[in-house]
Amino acid sequence: MADSSDEILAGLDRDQSVAVTAPAGPLCILAGAGTGKTRAITHRIAHRVRSGQVRARHVLAVTFTARAAAEMRERLTRLGADGVQARTFHAAALRQVRYFAPRLFSGREMPELLDSKARLVTFAATKAGLKTDREVARDLAGEIEWAKASLIEPDDYAAAAAKALREPPFDAAMVAKVYAQYERAKRAQGLIDFEDMIRAAIWAIEEHSDVAEQVRAQYRHFVVDEYQDVNPMQQRLLDAWLGERDDLTVVGDASQTIYSFTGASASYLVDFKRRHPGATVVRLTRDYRSTPQVVGLANAVISRARGELSRLRLELVGQRPPGPEPTVHTFADEPGEATAVAARCAELIAGGTPAREIAVLFRVNAQSEVYQEALAEAGVPCVLHGTERFFDRAEVREAMIALRAYRGSPADDLVETVHAALERTGWRPEAPPGGGAQRERWEAVTALVNLAEGMPALSLPEFNTELQRRAALQHVPTVEGVTLSSLHSAKGLEWDAVFLVGLCEGTLPVIHARTPDAVEEERRLFYVGVTRARHTLWLSHAAARQPGGRPRRPSRFVPTAAPADPASGAGARYPRRPLDKAAVAGRARRVMAVSCRVCGTGLVNGADRKLGRCATCPSDLDEELLARLLDWRARLAGIQKIPPFVVFTDVTLSAIAERRPARREELAVIAGIGPRKLLLYGDDVIALVGGSSVEALARDRA
Ligand code: ATP
Ligand code: MG
Repeated sequence: MADSSDEILAGLDRDQSVAVTAPAGPLCILAGAGTGKTRAITHRIAHRVRSGQVRARHVLAVTFTARAAAEMRERLTRLGADGVQARTFHAAALRQVRYFAPRLFSGREMPELLDSKARLVTFAATKAGLKTDREVARDLAGEIEWAKASLIEPDDYAAAAAKALREPPFDAAMVAKVYAQYERAKRAQGLIDFEDMIRAAIWAIEEHSDVAEQVRAQYRHFVVDEYQDVNPMQQRLLDAWLGERDDLTVVGDASQTIYSFTGASASYLVDFKRRHPGATVVRLTRDYRSTPQVVGLANAVISRARGELSRLRLELVGQRPPGPEPTVHTFADEPGEATAVAARCAELIAGGTPAREIAVLFRVNAQSEVYQEALAEAGVPCVLHGTERFFDRAEVREAMIALRAYRGSPADDLVETVHAALERTGWRPEAPPGGGAQRERWEAVTALVNLAEGMPALSLPEFNTELQRRAALQHVPTVEGVTLSSLHSAKGLEWDAVFLVGLCEGTLPVIHARTPDAVEEERRLFYVGVTRARHTLWLSHAAARQPGGRPRRPSRFVPTAAPADPASGAGARYPRRPLDKAAVAGRARRVMAVSCRVCGTGLVNGADRKLGRCATCPSDLDEELLARLLDWRARLAGIQKIPPFVVFTDVTLSAIAERRPARREELAVIAGIGPRKLLLYGDDVIALVGGSSVEALARDRA
């Protein structure tokens, strides 16, 4: 921890220092990725707190993702500025509305919060006479969200949508009708949605002077990170918090605007000086995060941007020593891509890169499953949803209870005591074999042990108090594991090695990005991804989703060559590797190895290959065995708290039920059963094939 406010200023360049020491009042930092914006604001907060200019509890720092908020809290704690509230807009509003609920809802608690609009939107659409499917419901919900975040009521929707050049899925009058029905149905059921909750926070301040007074007495200094993504509704909340005051710091980068499809607008950032005439504006251009190789690619990507925001782009200047060129890889299919990524992760970890310094980033969450499976198969631990819910995890709660219940001698060594207490819950110092959810749970509990190792002077009760304090602040310890994240929630974060995967047309840009503006937003999303890497950057795409599937083109954003820059002698090439050697070898091996065991035809389709026969050839599946296998898998997945497909997919279970392997060697040749699964589940499966009941297996294991 920095121990004086001078030390807080020491690690900053001149421009950053100007931002950190600027006097109270409006301040805007306009700067590119990795230039130290978040560093500047956290140092500014710490500097002001530690030099006595402001009280930590009077500062509210807001950002857009729970991960970024957690990261900010962590940085603030390291700088000795504990007690500052760092939250997402959502979390800050929710806390406020909950607290004031009895005053706002005539003595009642806050109404129930709707976590997805899908059901009510479908209902409203049907009432309005539309036939819907999931996609239509999603598009309609998107329009309603955009309208609500833009503070547009149903009656004004049609005009506003035309003005904003929206491309609604139906005639605007029809969307407005669905929107009105949705609002009616929601009210009738006594529910509120996400936007209503933020509106309630605004209205609480605007309409209730006592609430306004109390909120404004609590929060006096405001900081907003990633301000380019603020929407009119959030801006109105910020204005309500501020009232007549102006102690506001905002930072942002127009080239990283990735939420405008939901109503966010970089105009608040760009026009900050106009709204706050006395504002100090600071610009940063030196990139401290990434190697010149990564910076070169980032500049090349954003130099191709078009449209209004592209005029605001900033050329980054890399400050770090050189590193490897980013690499571009093409695979035959997604499982092949995922296997190669997992293998490379394992290599990096073996070479000394900590797993927590690696991230695999994708455009849509559905892409994560295949990576989860591949990493588990390669024995690499991974962290799926980030760390924001760490203290809510069942195993962490259980561990904390065990620590509180443990009675040892006060003189005992903290680390030994923590070990002893946790071993009673079944935790062991050695990692369980392989990856998957079991490993994820082990890593979470081990993070508590690592924390204890960092504070050996504490007694157990003191350590427990520390854990509780951290839980209240959501100050999460570092969990070991490769991060799997969407590009959207990776914003603001950084890793030594970043894998940008699934880079094909239809995924990035995503298929529903139909307008030029929407495509530009996808380009910025790719730019956000590229600029997350400190050192190693891998870009890949798979020709087909499934083995033998329809080929897809690589993403238009992946440059094959950076624009030549004679001045810097750059012009680095990013050759596309036609087909990764490993992938080709992998595909060739699989295609040769698997042919239909009924008719002998070579199998190319993934599901057929797992089954070991053409889907159209007659099946000799043992239905009774399949039922037992499914039952066994369900129980195991339940016990280990992992999705069933991580144990075995349906197709693999069907293949087992058809082929009834009596020995390990016969089991091993079934596609989808690697050495790790053989080790973990081989005995169980063979026992089941041999006629054992699921109950008998469970008894044996116990
Ligand atoms: P993004 O736009 O992605 O949110 P950012 O502008 O907020 O990026 P930071 O995350 O604050 O950038 O900083 C990027 C990295 O550079 C961090 O690891 C940070 O510690 C480091 N860094 C920033 N400024 C300096 C500096 N003056 N000296 C050394 N390292 C620095
Ligand atoms: Mg940042």
